[in-house]
Amino acid sequence: MTTEAQTLFRPSAEKRRILLVEDEFINQEILKAYLEDRYDILVAPDGASALEMLFVEYETISLILLDLNLPDIHGLELLRRIKADSRSSQLPVIVMTADSEAEVVSLTLGAIDFIPKPYPQPDVVLARIQRTIELSEDRDTLRLTERDHLTGLYNREFFFRYAIQLDSHHKDYPTDAIVLDVNHFHTINERYGKHYGDELLRRLALLILSLLEREGGIACRSKADTFLVYSPHRTDYEELLERLSARLDADENNKGHVRIRMGVYTDVDKTLDVERRFDRAKLAADTVKDSAVKAIGLYDKSLQEAELYSEQLIEDFSAAIREEQFVVYYQPKFDVRADKPVLHSAEALVRWKHPELGMVSPGAFIPLFEKNGLIQTVDQYVWAKAAAQIRDWRERFGITLPVSVNVSRVDLFDPLLKERLGAILEENGLGSEDLLLEITESAYTEDSKQLIEAVSVLRAAGFRIEMDDFGSGYSSLSMLSTLPIDILKLDIQFIRGAFCEGRKDIRLLEAMIRLAGAFKLPVVAEGVETSEQVAVLGALGCDFIQGYYFSRPVPPEEFEKFFCS
Ligand code: C2E
Ligand code: CA
Ligand code: CA
Repeated sequence: MTTEAQTLFRPSAEKRRILLVEDEFINQEILKAYLEDRYDILVAPDGASALEMLFVEYETISLILLDLNLPDIHGLELLRRIKADSRSSQLPVIVMTADSEAEVVSLTLGAIDFIPKPYPQPDVVLARIQRTIELSEDRDTLRLTERDHLTGLYNREFFFRYAIQLDSHHKDYPTDAIVLDVNHFHTINERYGKHYGDELLRRLALLILSLLEREGGIACRSKADTFLVYSPHRTDYEELLERLSARLDADENNKGHVRIRMGVYTDVDKTLDVERRFDRAKLAADTVKDSAVKAIGLYDKSLQEAELYSEQLIEDFSAAIREEQFVVYYQPKFDVRADKPVLHSAEALVRWKHPELGMVSPGAFIPLFEKNGLIQTVDQYVWAKAAAQIRDWRERFGITLPVSVNVSRVDLFDPLLKERLGAILEENGLGSEDLLLEITESAYTEDSKQLIEAVSVLRAAGFRIEMDDFGSGYSSLSMLSTLPIDILKLDIQFIRGAFCEGRKDIRLLEAMIRLAGAFKLPVVAEGVETSEQVAVLGALGCDFIQGYYFSRPVPPEEFEKFFCS
């Protein structure tokens, strides 16, 4: 690239654009003569055309030169409108007037400087204009780094900084932490397009801002459709949310009812980290995530207890590993392709025999440990136990029963995963066909590329992959042909839906099994509890069945009864 091209490419080398609002031809010509060498001049001869140009060109205009005597509206009224519109409110306005009294009013309306009439020397006018543009651009740079581009609210980082500042000035002032989310925002985006989604977020941001204007406080967009608000304590959140929703719905651009979900942690404990306070509000918001009737979740005693419980589990974790408090249960999977079901394999499921809390089910700790990464340790522990168990059964019963183990999404990011599994197999004299890997469907749809790659590596090493919880996430049936999987495990909710009153999903179930067959993927149904379900699934062509009908997950000693029958 030539140096000339380099300087031209920089924004600072471009001619700035000035909107000159002036009706008198002679004045237009004088200013053009002064400025045209350095600036690109747009001329608006009256208020109406000024507004029209402004709302189309606001992104390219650096400064407005405004004459107060216009043929249609008064210049001061025009100034007020410019400052009231979010598109133009940040643009610097220099007022040109012969009336020194108008200067004060212009200032209060947001003008930044004056040029008296008749005009002073060209270099004076030029210097004022140049300085104003520079100042305003410096301020914009600062504004952009602390603001979210889409909505103009603070970004997350600055929001937390300002929250801390607010606290330091108002230590004893009761304050609330609020999280706002748009329900099913991704479906809104899909249905009406990203442009509409963005517009909706912008409107919501404006409503939040108008609220803060009245009540005080600060707000940010923390990600996608999540907004955080830190504001003085109040108790009328129900009414507040109702008003907010009504105003969103009333907007002329609105294409359908928008549901806002809100989580509130009231009168925050200011000894906690700011971010932690918003974690609590988020926790509260999540409690109403799937509710059709409740839109506001409050952080309360029960949530605090749940938090403390989680903290205790994390605290007790290393002792649990050391003292082998985690135990592995096994649940059989039966092959139902022939008339009589035959034992085919088992799934290893972990439990925590906690010395004080008793038997803790995985539902209470797996999601928690998935968040903080401790799951890797649990999983590796379970894999090793399961492999040792296969060997033990082989030695004692002469049967090599394949066992499926659960592999978390987090495990898939471990670059040594294949080696770890390999070492466990080798230690127990097993092959990769003996340990099946269950990977939940959602792992395939989030960060899919990297994860699919990781799964392919395992599959190439000979492991068979079961896609767990199929139907719970967003993967489509058509993806099945391209994903690295060997077995499809239908989500427990599917069986529930297919056999509930009205059997609303039975056709879906049928279609899935048929399609899996077309892709030559064997199907496992889990959560099967009755003989009727077994019969129907068998007739639909389901290959394997796991569920309370055959057995709950049981300790290994109890599992051994299946070898003797
Ligand atoms: P999952 O992998 O989908 O496991 C199936 C769950 O359904 C098990 O719950 C099992 O006990 C339960 N289940 C099986 N048959 C029936 C039935 O007929 N009716 C009903 N109502 N439930 C049935 P569990 O053992 O509580 O495990 C819950 C989840 O915890 C598992 O879901 C899995 O996601 C996770 N998990 C369990 N063990 C491990 C592990 O070692 N590592 C990892 N990463 N996750 C695990
Ligand atoms: Ca599983
Ligand atoms: Ca499952």
